[in-house]
Amino acid sequence: MASIAFIGLGNMGNPMAANLVKAGHTVLGFDLVTENLETATQNGVTVMASAAAAVKDADVVITMLPAGKHVLSVYADIAAKAPKGTLFIDSSTIDVDSARKAHAIASEHGLLSIDAPVSGGVGGAEAGTLTFMAGGSADAFAKASPILEPMAGRVVHCGDGGAGQAAKICNNMILGISMIAVGEAFVLAEKLGLSHQALYDVASTSSGQCWSLTTYCPVPGPVPTSPANRGYKPGFAAALMLKDLKLAQEAAQSAGAATPLGAEATQLYTLFNAMGQESTDFSGIINFLRGKQS
Ligand code: NAD
Repeated sequence: MASIAFIGLGNMGNPMAANLVKAGHTVLGFDLVTENLETATQNGVTVMASAAAAVKDADVVITMLPAGKHVLSVYADIAAKAPKGTLFIDSSTIDVDSARKAHAIASEHGLLSIDAPVSGGVGGAEAGTLTFMAGGSADAFAKASPILEPMAGRVVHCGDGGAGQAAKICNNMILGISMIAVGEAFVLAEKLGLSHQALYDVASTSSGQCWSLTTYCPVPGPVPTSPANRGYKPGFAAALMLKDLKLAQEAAQSAGAATPLGAEATQLYTLFNAMGQESTDFSGIINFLRGKQS
């Protein structure tokens, strides 16, 4: 069993750390928020006074932080304080350029590193069924796989440093665009007098089939477990969708890729968030689309 330092014990980090404790690892945790530290203690995590104290004797360091600037600042603080050869796993969703900088900091200090963002949300973090998308060397990935296992349904090695973040933002750009497409189709169906169920029955078994329709259907009824059936309570909040779409746009500009639908989806989610819908599930954008047509 490993000694694991876990930095960032928020909505995702706390349940992930709890699953590592359940698997028998020793987990030393740190966060800036007292309430999160109290939850961590209840979950069997040993709370430390600082990130530096948590990593001092660690075999593995996991970070689960809001954005690239937080990851780079924490890495700059702790990279020299962890033992040489320690494996650093960053599971935050951050921009590809910052992910590559984080790998460079780790490498300069003789550490192994992977970027390993996740999909599956808080539910997946609690159930230990997250999908991890990993970027880094084969050696680092081989060492990371058994550590990720208690938190994961699936772990995919996507390529070198930054490839995990690239996979995450490309996937979520598809998701943001496809949710708008499905929402628009339901709004058009309503105007044409076609029932939600009839559109669902046809499109779910035809060429319009996609996850946004068959798992996360944005109207109540056809898929009883989708957020539309519980007042669009997240799930995956609109603020996080906007964050990921913006990361995809930044990456597209930096790499010179044309992503016109990604740009349009970013614009629409910006407007939806600006209407005070940050905490609404992202599938609630159908209500914004309806409003635009009336
Ligand atoms: P969160 O805000 O609940 O947790 C982030 C934690 O980091 C907070 O508790 C904060 O206090 C802590 N933190 C910030 N700076 C710190 C520092 N210097 N030292 C120690 N702790 C620090 O966010 P979350 O929902 O847990 O998301 C974490 C990451 O996972 C984000 O990058 C997010 O985009 C990604 N993600 C979230 C979800 C989701 O559904 N919530 C799904 C997939 C990916």
